[in-house]
Formats: sequence, C-alpha cells, structure tokens
Amino acid sequence: MFATTPKTQSLLIVPFGAIRKEILVFLQNELIRTFGFDVRIAREEPIPQYAFNPKRNQYHSTKILEWLKNIPVMDTRILGIVDLDLYVPELNFVFGEADVAHGFCVISLVRLRQEYYGMPKNEKLFLVRALKEAVHELGHTYRLGHCGDTRCIMHFSNSLQDTDIKGPDFCPRCKLKLR
Ligand SMILES: [Zn+2]
Ligand SMILES: [Zn+2]
Repeated sequence: MFATTPKTQSLLIVPFGAIRKEILVFLQNELIRTFGFDVRIAREEPIPQYAFNPKRNQYHSTKILEWLKNIPVMDTRILGIVDLDLYVPELNFVFGEADVAHGFCVISLVRLRQEYYGMPKNEKLFLVRALKEAVHELGHTYRLGHCGDTRCIMHFSNSLQDTDIKGPDFCPRCKLKLR
C-alpha cells in the first residue's frame, strides 16, 4: 500500500525523560487507528543533554533526530516524545521536527498545555494537540509537505491557534498521497 517508503510496518514511540503513561497509551491507540500500523512504546530514554543549548535554554530537535539513529530498528518509524522545549536554529521554537529520509520524528509537549500560556489546565485539549502534532510529523515521514488547507493536519502550525483549527485528519488530497 505504501510502496514508495520502506518504513511501513510499525511505529515505535520513544519517550525521553518521564512522560505520563496515559499520554503514551492515548497516542498509541489513536495512531493505530489513524495509520493502521502496529505501534509499540519503547522504554524511557534519558533526557537528551547532547541536544541542550544553554544560551537558549532549549533542546535542538535535529540532534535528537540524529540520536534516534542509534536505536536498532528495521522497517519502523520512530516518534520521539519530549517534555522539553525544542528549537531549530532558524526558529524561536518548534512543536516538532521530522527526518523524512529515516522516517523519524520528534514532538514536544511543552507548548501544548494551556498552563504554558497562563490558562487553566485542559487535559483533553492537551491530548488532542499532542495527537495532532504526532500525526503531522508522521505525515512528513510519508513525504507529505505542508498543505494549504487550514483544516488539514498537514497545515503548518505557526501557533497553537493553527493547531486547534485543524482536524486530526488528513484532507482528501493528502490522504491520497499517503496511499
Ligand atoms: Zn510540518
Ligand atoms: Zn492536506
């Protein structure tokens, strides 16, 4: 079905540092539903100190993606999850980043919480946002680019408002490319 990419069989979720089990299991179940592949949760990896930039007090997402190459997997996509603020040099922050060639991606939970913006906690909203970021970055591992449809999960999120507007699903055009 996904003839153009070799990494089709399964997905491994890799938590860096302590990530609550409910979050991991929620993502596991929802990603099985969305992509139809086998999803496993790996053991917790240490906080990626090698990616930390003390000047920015943030973690360089590309370095985490590079580190993921150390995980011995075959035919498996990897979704890294951190509760640390991520950046790439060109941007103030990123919600996540994907390594298309290897089928790896990483997402950050930090800026998905209402509390981060001084608002009351909303667990359901937080979980849905985490799912959206995960599906978006995984979409990139299928070589999908950003989509002009603001409701499509592949629409670029400049802010959480963009994330909240888009659905957790692919638009019909992106869905076609996925297959
Ligand atoms: Zn993107
Ligand atoms: Zn789309």
